[in-house]
Amino acid sequence: MNSLDLVGVADIREAREAFQGLSKDVTDAFPLAIVEAVRVSKAVLSTLEDGPNLLYYHHYRQLNSQLDRAALRIAQEIERRGYAALPIAASQVVDWEKMTGHLSHKEVAHLAGLGWRGRNNLLVTKKLGSQVRLTTILTDFPLETGHPIRTDCGSCYRCLSACPAKAIKEEPTEFDSLACYQKLKEFSKTRRIGQYICGLCVKACSGSKGTIELQQ
Ligand code: SF4
Ligand code: SF4
Repeated sequence: MNSLDLVGVADIREAREAFQGLSKDVTDAFPLAIVEAVRVSKAVLSTLEDGPNLLYYHHYRQLNSQLDRAALRIAQEIERRGYAALPIAASQVVDWEKMTGHLSHKEVAHLAGLGWRGRNNLLVTKKLGSQVRLTTILTDFPLETGHPIRTDCGSCYRCLSACPAKAIKEEPTEFDSLACYQKLKEFSKTRRIGQYICGLCVKACSGSKGTIELQQ
């Protein structure tokens, strides 16, 4: 797990109903999930000005690949020990209308206590803010689980002005997913990216090592 920046374990028994494209028989076999995170490069983020660029696109794919390789290694080790493990891809769309995958990695990370859902609708970790990418391994391997932490964005509003779609609001529940989606769609066409990414609210959310203040 050396290449990972954060690792947590969540009890997902209450969350499995929301999983997509996996039968109940499959998900019922997995009461736990290991969630892993790697940091997004500050140097790459510093190149973003008014939207995604080719450097960020390449880095995004590299991080997903790094996460998927790490998840595969962990799953293989768990299976060698006689337990079950199902790695879920870091970035794979299952429902194209909603742009969602088999499960929400950020929701699993929240359940594991790695962070909270921020105003930018992403996971926010204390140390690295939203500058992480995530993936998940479902398992029945016996592990101690974390718990959701009770904190939020507090007095930080840094990402609101960074968002070109004005999708980020004061309350995380008011996040305008459609406005964000439309902006990502526009970027994918106009910037030769071919993928729905942006990076501006990730760049703005730098965690306790950055310039924003987070409530403890
Ligand atoms: S990804 Fe871009 S458009 Fe979407 S909320 Fe973040 S900054 Fe706004
Ligand atoms: S930049 Fe601030 S307000 Fe936005 S998600 Fe991060 S901590 Fe929350």
